[in-house]
Amino acid sequence: MKGSLSTLALALVAAGALAQGHHQQAPADPFRLQPLSGGVYALYGRGGNVGFFVGADAVVVVDSQFRDLAPGIVEKIKSVTDKPIKYLVNTHHHPDHVGGNEVFKQFAVIVAHDNVRKRMLMSPEAILRDYPPMIEDARKSGNEERAKRLQEQIDWAKKVRIEEIPAPFVTFDSELRIHVGGETIHVWHTSPAHTDGDSVVRFEKANVVHMGDLLFNKVIPVIDVRGGGMPKGYLPALDSVLARLDPGVTIIPGHGESPMPRGSKCFGSTSSIWSSSQRPRAPLERRGKRSSAMRSCRPTRNGAGTRSASKRTRGSAYDEAK
Ligand SMILES: [Zn+2]
Repeated sequence: MKGSLSTLALALVAAGALAQGHHQQAPADPFRLQPLSGGVYALYGRGGNVGFFVGADAVVVVDSQFRDLAPGIVEKIKSVTDKPIKYLVNTHHHPDHVGGNEVFKQFAVIVAHDNVRKRMLMSPEAILRDYPPMIEDARKSGNEERAKRLQEQIDWAKKVRIEEIPAPFVTFDSELRIHVGGETIHVWHTSPAHTDGDSVVRFEKANVVHMGDLLFNKVIPVIDVRGGGMPKGYLPALDSVLARLDPGVTIIPGHGESPMPRGSKCFGSTSSIWSSSQRPRAPLERRGKRSSAMRSCRPTRNGAGTRSASKRTRGSAYDEAK
């Protein structure tokens, strides 16, 4: 008996050590939750940053990252409130902002600009057309992880039925407001910039704005021309947003690990990043080499796919300026 107990105890210690070893090897929590003001939180994970507002009787979420992360996003929200998640706003149609819709549609009303729905429903076609060269780019730059994720999207596009796509089911053409408790959440569409379905989401009382991919933190903006974006429209779109923000607003960028500085300063820094990315364009244009224009791009930070995306953006700006 004693012997058995010792054996059992040893086994338990061993199991504990194993569990601990396993725990140490388990991937770290992919999320970082940051309380901002007035019940608004930023949630950083993989893909586009999530923002959410906890109101008196409901939670409003902005963007849903990827399908595999969505249950974790819901869990993080539940860690700060037991209020139901009633609305999800998508800032645009890119998969790293809408991938989790499949989970959210089970309990939330999904809201976005008309073109987000349109482009999501068209996405299998676009993925099969656009992703194969992107996989090649990713492999060339040694980013196997990205290549794998793109391949998964291709596999999905080959088999998905249109009616299964979790596109927003409430759409608007210029702007709408969501009223939750005493907070008013303004969602408005800008002229084509990052895509043709961009919206920003402003929490009025909290004085926080989620910029979607119109604004990155210290990264050259990406313009998805195939997704309806326009390099020329980018700065006017930023200006139009800036004109509607209050001083001291807290900004949740579409990408970037930390929150942006308060107020309009970050718009200035993004504008200067954008302008400096455009600066070498004139002499290169005279030489007439699109490939040189693309090579001259120097992002200030290399996130996943950022370098290749910025190169594509320079190429698009070049095409538009021709
Ligand atoms: Zn995007």
